[in-house]
Amino acid sequence: MLTLEDALERLLARARPTADEEVPLGDATGRVLADPRVVAPLDVPPFANSAMDGFALRSADTPGRLRVVAEVTAGMDGLPATSAGEAVRIMTGAPIPPGADAVVALEDAHESDGSVEVPLAPTGAFVRLAGSDTSAGTEVSLRGVLGPAAIAVLASFGLDRVRVRRRPTVAILSTGDELVEPGQQLRSGQIYDSNAIALAAAVAEAGGAAHHLGRVADTRAGVEEALRAGAGFDLVVSSGGVSVGRHDHVREVLEQAGGLDFWRIAVQPGKPLAVGELGGTLVIGLPGNPVSALVTFELFVRPLIRAMLGLAGDGRPRLFARPTERMAKDPSRRAFLRVTARLEAGEMIARSAGGQGSAQLRPLAEANALLVVPEGEEAADPGRSYEAIIVGELS
Ligand code: AMP
Ligand code: MG
Repeated sequence: MLTLEDALERLLARARPTADEEVPLGDATGRVLADPRVVAPLDVPPFANSAMDGFALRSADTPGRLRVVAEVTAGMDGLPATSAGEAVRIMTGAPIPPGADAVVALEDAHESDGSVEVPLAPTGAFVRLAGSDTSAGTEVSLRGVLGPAAIAVLASFGLDRVRVRRRPTVAILSTGDELVEPGQQLRSGQIYDSNAIALAAAVAEAGGAAHHLGRVADTRAGVEEALRAGAGFDLVVSSGGVSVGRHDHVREVLEQAGGLDFWRIAVQPGKPLAVGELGGTLVIGLPGNPVSALVTFELFVRPLIRAMLGLAGDGRPRLFARPTERMAKDPSRRAFLRVTARLEAGEMIARSAGGQGSAQLRPLAEANALLVVPEGEEAADPGRSYEAIIVGELS
């Protein structure tokens, strides 16, 4: 059995960054810039403007009573000049008129009969200078998945299109004679295919684009044909059929028709994970048990998709949490226990989300973290804290 680190290293060595493409800025949320370094093409803000509604004036005239000679609104062009002894009524975001070097806020001023009484205002008070956020030519680093603030910076530069990495395309295949599409009638012995839709959701969450190859019966020929249908995608992810059963064909197909890189990893759940290629396309055979499939996706496929996007790691926050109870595990493997992590009386606590079996899906859905209990330990010990990978909302 390979350790998680060794398996991940071998897998990530196969990651090729995807090419870039141009998208409208409005579609760039959740995408990753092809080049995270963006040079500001202009000053932001482009001109000195007022940070408050109030009066623009000369600092040297304060404190005192000044004549209100004009008004400047946001967006205004052709500004009135401010001379000694004068004030100009100004709105937030409006350009500072020539001659003025400070603003007194409306609430600190007393206006009456065409003049205004103002307190002492130092030079630059409530004035946002041109480029005071970002000056033209500054290199801004917008690493990682683009969120609203990064998009706002790009918009403030006047950009309406950006170059981003193409989403890695991931073909998803379910193997198993017992599987039925949700919405159809179950016959005896059958179960619904929950992996396909779950893995597609996980692909999207990781930044990839999922395509369904469908379900395939447990025959050697059928599995090979279905896996070959994934040619042309960046990655094929199958579930099921990678164990040692007589009807588990995924590993066999990789071994005989393509290339098997490695199989079996010392993680719990998810030992029988297979990685290889078929017809030049990278194939990851995840175990069929739904918890194993999603946890191994989290540990291996998510970092792989991110590596294809030029991103490091899995992008998940981590913290330390103490289990409230002993949770048994296989000492030969590193366990990823499904827990609910929560701050209680100043301490991060991890409660078992329920049964830890690899087919027990509900606790995974109700958990918000995977508690990492190392190889060599027989159980999670309530006497100490463990690393917790946060996969859901903390409340
Ligand atoms: P396998 O890895 O094919 O031996 O499957 C292990 C377990 O996972 C079996 O109980 C399967 O019925 C179940 N399983 C396999 N594929 C899926 C799937 N797509 N959705 C839900 N359960 C599955
Ligand atoms: Mg199966």
